[in-house]
Amino acid sequence: MFDSFTLRALPPEDEALREPLRALIAERVAAQPIDRRARSWMGFDADLSRALGAAGYLGLTLPKRYGGQERGAYARFVVSEELLSVGAPVAAHWIADRQSAQLILHFGTEAQRQDYLPRICRGEIYFCIGMSEPGSGSDLASVRTRAEPVEGGGWRLNGQKIWTTFAHHDDYMIALVRTSGISADRHQGLSQLIIDLKTPGVTVRPIVDLTGDAHFTEVFFEDVHLPPDALIGEEGAGWAQVTAELAFERSGPERIYSSIVLLDAWIAHIRAHRPDDEASLALAGRLTAELAVLRAMSLAVTARLAEGESPVIEASLVKDIGTGFEQSIPALIADDLGRHPDQPVAPELVRALAFATQIAPSYSLRGGTREILRGIIARGLGLR
Ligand SMILES: Cc1cc2nc3c(=O)[nH]c(=O)nc-3n(C[C@H](O)[C@H](O)[C@H](O)COP(=O)(O)OP(=O)(O)OC[C@H]3O[C@@H](n4cnc5c(N)ncnc54)[C@H](O)[C@@H]3O)c2cc1C
Repeated sequence: MFDSFTLRALPPEDEALREPLRALIAERVAAQPIDRRARSWMGFDADLSRALGAAGYLGLTLPKRYGGQERGAYARFVVSEELLSVGAPVAAHWIADRQSAQLILHFGTEAQRQDYLPRICRGEIYFCIGMSEPGSGSDLASVRTRAEPVEGGGWRLNGQKIWTTFAHHDDYMIALVRTSGISADRHQGLSQLIIDLKTPGVTVRPIVDLTGDAHFTEVFFEDVHLPPDALIGEEGAGWAQVTAELAFERSGPERIYSSIVLLDAWIAHIRAHRPDDEASLALAGRLTAELAVLRAMSLAVTARLAEGESPVIEASLVKDIGTGFEQSIPALIADDLGRHPDQPVAPELVRALAFATQIAPSYSLRGGTREILRGIIARGLGLR
């Protein structure tokens, strides 16, 4: 399977996206303190998302007729890399741009495409993903939230979702729900619905995480009435749609850059205070080398996507190794700083380290746990 990771270079026309984007984010992001930038895809900034939309950096791969840029997966790689490297607060548009837009493009009706996609491209509307439920995380096929068809058209929705990132700030949820049968039917009878989160009967409660922030939420549905066009794709085909959606989620470069602002700030620290410290230089070299290899692997996955393939196993491999890498950074940096207890460290760097240490365990949970990814890889290798 290693043959499928071939070295690729980014096309010059996509590399050219970097300079103007850097100018835009230099103004709005680069001057912010390190500990704020370390939050990056946990940072919600609708103004920035609208500015990115206005400048044509959202919906890069969508057709022009829906407000997109009709560019390829490489363009999205470059833009994601630039935003995450500087620690731009991307949470507002991130899920809509990465997943929901692709889902609507591939499975939505023409009316749904015309309604949602241009607004996503302008950075005006934000989506969340309603897959997990209490008791249904890895075992997603067991979801129990249920939408019953109602007389005269539409659906009546009851149930609960959990760990829904940013539902308290977003406009819409795309939820995986049961529209027929029972939980034991597993992959049969599941559908995806677009839910306007302002609909009566929807209650969103933020959950405070280890960092003290409320990134995710629990969402309750009590006799929520949804119109017939809330259904996205085919009734009962939700499982196949969700599987395709998760491939978009796992294949991006974002799975290696979550601790990058911290890494950068620490390298600046050792450069300024102890440029001859061999142990620190060796660690910086090791982490940079690992990052370079992971970036090359992520780019190889992007190349496969650009060629119209669906590299599910390779994307799982990059996510598993990539999240392990980004998870290791805070502890390694803490050890390095701890070896020099008398050396002053900028409070911003200490705060960024504290944040990354607390948030890092979630890297290998969000988007599918390590064990589940390894199951996919093992199956791909013919081992199970
Ligand atoms: C920061 C963050 C953001 C999230 N955002 C969202 C979101 O926006 N929308 C959403 O729907 N969900 C979201 N999630 C939920 C996430 O997708 C689930 O937490 C994840 O899928 C695991 O499900 P679970 O928590 O129910 O754990 P469980 O599935 O109960 O797993 C518990 C442990 O058992 C292991 N395990 C489970 N089944 C197997 C198996 N078959 N073989 C081997 N090991 C197994 C798991 O790997 C894990 O280690 C988010 C989670 C986090 C941490």
